[in-house]
Amino acid sequence: MSLEPDQRYSRQLLFSGIGTEGQQRLAIARVAIVGCGATGSALASLLARAGVGTIRIIDRDYVEPSNLQRQSLFDESDAAEALPKAIAAARKIAAFNSQIVVDPHVADLTPSNIAALLEGAQLILDGTDNFETRYLINDFAVQQALPWIYTAAVGSYGVTMNIIPGKTACLACIFPEPPRGLLETCETAGVLNTAVNWAASVAASEALKLLVGAEDRLRQSLLSFDLWSNQHGEVTAAHPRGGCHACDERKFLHLAGKDRPQVTLCGRNSVQIHERARAVDLAEMSKRLKPHGAVRYNDFVLKFWHEPYEMTLFPDGRAIIKGTTDTTVARSLYARYVGS
Ligand SMILES: [Zn+2]
Repeated sequence: MSLEPDQRYSRQLLFSGIGTEGQQRLAIARVAIVGCGATGSALASLLARAGVGTIRIIDRDYVEPSNLQRQSLFDESDAAEALPKAIAAARKIAAFNSQIVVDPHVADLTPSNIAALLEGAQLILDGTDNFETRYLINDFAVQQALPWIYTAAVGSYGVTMNIIPGKTACLACIFPEPPRGLLETCETAGVLNTAVNWAASVAASEALKLLVGAEDRLRQSLLSFDLWSNQHGEVTAAHPRGGCHACDERKFLHLAGKDRPQVTLCGRNSVQIHERARAVDLAEMSKRLKPHGAVRYNDFVLKFWHEPYEMTLFPDGRAIIKGTTDTTVARSLYARYVGS
C-alpha cells in the first residue's frame, strides 16, 4: 500500500494552522526525542503520525512488562524480548508511518556524547525521567540556541514548558535546583497513562507550532495539570531570569560535567554501569556467562540472571543491574562477570 501524503495527512491539511505549507515544513523537520519511556513514546507516536520527517530517538533502557500500561509504542513481544526501547519504537513507527525517517540510538545521553547525539536536530523533546538529564539538555540547548520542550508526568500530574533560548526563560531560570514536588518518581507515586498523554499532547502541539513556523502561537509559561484533583497552574516563563547561571551567566555546569561512571536509575532498584567504552560481543559474552546463570541475548541486548540480580548488557558495554541500589555491589558484579 502506498499512501500519498495528501491522503495520509488529509485531516491535518484541512486544519488551517498547518495546511499544505505547514505539512511541507513538517516533512523536512528534524527533531530529537531524549528518552522513550511513557512521555517519549507518546511524543514520538504523535509527531511520527503528524509527519515530522526525521525523528531521532535516544533511549538507554529496554522494554519491561510494567511499561505496557502507559508506554504506547510497545507491546508484549517487545517486553518478552527485552528489546531496547529505541529499537522497539523505531519498528513500531515504521509499521504506521514508513514515509518518515526514524533514527534510533540505544545510548545514555552524557556530557561527552550529547553534541554527537543531538547534532542536526532543530528541536529537542524531553522524554526523560530525571532532572540530571534535563539540566544537561538545558545547558546544551541554551549554548547552541536550540529550542527544547520540557515535559514530565508523575501520579496524575503533568507539566510542560517551552524553552526558546534568548526569548523565554530556560529550565534553570525556573528551577535553579530540581523542584521538590517532582522528586516523586513513577516508582514511588505511580503514574496514570492519562497524565502522560496529557503532557505529551500539549508538548507535541507546541512542537508542531514551532516546526510549522507559528511562533506567535507558542505558549510562554510553565503549565501543569493534575487530572485527578483538577488543579492546574500556570507560571509565566516569557522572559529569561537575570542571574540565571545557564542562560544569563552562560555557565554550563552540567555540560562541563565529567562522564558519570555510574548512575542509579529512577528509583527502580537498579544501577547503571557505564565505565567501559569498549564494545562487547554479546554472543561471546553469553558463552562466558552460561556457567554462572541463565543467559539470553539478541542483536541488541543480553540478559543474565544471577540471583538475586539481573544484568542487562548492551553492545557498547553499558549494563543495567537490577536487584540493588548499591553502586559498589553493581560494580563488583560487573567486574566479575563482564570485566573491568
Ligand atoms: Zn535561564
